[in-house]
Amino acid sequence: MNTIAVVGAGLAGSEAAWQLAARGFQVRLYEMRPTVPTPAHSTSDFAEIVCSNSFGSDEAGTAAALLKEELRALGSLLLIVADEVRVPAGKALAVDRTLFGRGVTERVLGHPRIEVIREELPSLPESPAIIASGPLTSAQLAESLQAFTGRQNLSFYDASSPIVLADTIDEGGVFRQSRYGRGNDYLNCALDRPQYLAFRDSMLAAEKAAVHEFDKINYFEGCLPIEELAARGEDTMRFGPMKPVGLVDPATGRQPYAVVQLRQDDIAADHYNMVGFQSRMKWGEQKRIFRMLPGLENAEFARFGRVHRNTYINAPAILTAAFECRNKAGLFVAGTLAGVEGYTECIASGLVSALTLASHLGGPDFSLPPPATAIGALCRYISNADWKNFQPVNFSFGLLDPLGKHIRSREARRVALVERARASMAAWSAALRSA
Ligand SMILES: Cc1cc2nc3c(=O)[nH]c(=O)nc-3n(C[C@H](O)[C@H](O)[C@H](O)COP(=O)(O)OP(=O)(O)OC[C@H]3O[C@@H](n4cnc5c(N)ncnc54)[C@H](O)[C@@H]3O)c2cc1C
Repeated sequence: MNTIAVVGAGLAGSEAAWQLAARGFQVRLYEMRPTVPTPAHSTSDFAEIVCSNSFGSDEAGTAAALLKEELRALGSLLLIVADEVRVPAGKALAVDRTLFGRGVTERVLGHPRIEVIREELPSLPESPAIIASGPLTSAQLAESLQAFTGRQNLSFYDASSPIVLADTIDEGGVFRQSRYGRGNDYLNCALDRPQYLAFRDSMLAAEKAAVHEFDKINYFEGCLPIEELAARGEDTMRFGPMKPVGLVDPATGRQPYAVVQLRQDDIAADHYNMVGFQSRMKWGEQKRIFRMLPGLENAEFARFGRVHRNTYINAPAILTAAFECRNKAGLFVAGTLAGVEGYTECIASGLVSALTLASHLGGPDFSLPPPATAIGALCRYISNADWKNFQPVNFSFGLLDPLGKHIRSREARRVALVERARASMAAWSAALRSA
């Protein structure tokens, strides 16, 4: 039987290695720490979580809890360990980071079918393999990946714009129009000169997030944080993301002084992306300042803008829904490197890629959960999103298909989506068991 290489013993790689070994496969797990350190990790433990110690909400009825529920049902090792070392955090699943890393390390090291190689893997492994080398993938491996994916399909930092919940946008305050009369794809927040100047002044004065050493980035001119553009000059934003050309505000019959454009971000049209508004302002500041825009006075945000180090591939151009490379059978990419965002999503990608690979190699049958489930919807997004505008993504209700019936209250809509996901997961599991 082939030995399977797993690169990176982070959240995705540890889950994947353990799931493969649990299904009888021999695994060679490469982890470069502590021999080659990263600027962010501080231990040699597997699945070291370097940012927050929270896996997000565990409150029934939330998107984050639905994803965890599905992972628990599929026997995720990392969720088992997380539940064992959870610390009080209201309705969230937060863990003792040290115990979590130690617990995962002990389980993985203790598995007789996992051989751990504490070395940097400098180039793409032979298939079958799962690459899960994370946001700080080593330079040599990144170079090898870039040769494989094409330069344009590997990013070294993530410059994402804020995402607004559609039902919190005041439709009376925006107008729907694409530039130069080419359709109606965008929502536009129009600003007059005093509004524009006040908006800019607020950005100039806003508190910015601290920049870690590993986050120091030489910005590409095409992807500057919005506050950086604001600082360059009074009109810089009006010649960039806030340019009004080609638009006519129906309320005045004239071109606005400046606009902010919002583009639909998900299949369900629940989310809108603020085009070109990647930002390093603190989240509270983003909320306060973006709510100054006409139509966004009561906006709720599914994600705030950011600009930080993150190595990731253009997943929809490279991967299938099961995280397998379209043009290299048996080679999978998981974790943040595959363009998923969030600890639980990284674990889900490791689990799905491992179960799919095991099934290809003669292990237990596995097919992807349907897109009505959290895991299925995340997998579909990764392989199906618009590759020209791809940005890493968390699981959210907006990735699920719409319900097919109109439910006015957001709360009731979410309850219905969770019920449908549970029913869909149960039917899928039953079908898999009887296959
Ligand atoms: C700079 C930075 C950016 C982050 N960005 C995001 C983000 O955008 N979204 C998000 O959700 N979270 C982010 N995080 C938080 C957190 O790190 C991740 O969510 C999570 O750890 C990712 O899991 P992973 O399994 O993909 O990668 P990791 O947990 O980082 O695991 C990858 C492992 O691979 C190892 N490795 C790398 N290259 C090699 C190699 N060539 N050979 C052998 N081993 C190798 C690393 O040492 C590491 O242990 C970020 C953290 C940092 C420090």
